[in-house]
Amino acid sequence: MTIPKAIQNLIESFEKLPGIGPKTAQRLTFYLLHVPQGELDKFASSLQNLKKDTVLCSSCFMIDDQDPCSICTNPERNHEIICVVEQPLDVLALEKGRGYKGIYHVLHGKIDPLNNIGPDEIYIVPLISKLKSQNSKVKEIILATNPTMEGEATAMYIAKQIKAQNPKLKITRIGRGLPVGADLEYADDTTLQRAMEGRSQY
Ligand SMILES: [Zn+2]
Repeated sequence: MTIPKAIQNLIESFEKLPGIGPKTAQRLTFYLLHVPQGELDKFASSLQNLKKDTVLCSSCFMIDDQDPCSICTNPERNHEIICVVEQPLDVLALEKGRGYKGIYHVLHGKIDPLNNIGPDEIYIVPLISKLKSQNSKVKEIILATNPTMEGEATAMYIAKQIKAQNPKLKITRIGRGLPVGADLEYADDTTLQRAMEGRSQY
């Protein structure tokens, strides 16, 4: 028996997603065959609009439906503090705690030589140039990359770049309470908030 093409296509699409192997891809596809057409149409249109209806903030590189994003344009936020994170999901995790009132800079990755990702492959240069600009009001940079080997290497690289250019700028690193090797994205609100409050000079 051959599998109908429509089914085979969807299985192959699912298999391309992270963490989904051939078995799960098959299970999801056959599950969807039982879902009403209306639900499937909704699912398909969400997929179709995912990238069409979102933009990268040209200032902090967060994903939002407007540019500049709702955090960068919020006058209540403290624009003198920038928290540097690896991924948009890290911003969501930190925002859940509601303790942080500064703004962000999303790198969209980390320096990872084993996977050929160097400093130029992620958004480090825009951060450095933002700090270089004459009207930069920034007083503190919080390095909130993950406490993994790559996250540390990324924090170290960024700190070196900033110190070379703005030696007086305060640089801090979050950490306390975060288990080594952990992902910010999976830390609970309290741990994240403590890590943020307990940040130290870097
Ligand atoms: Zn922004």
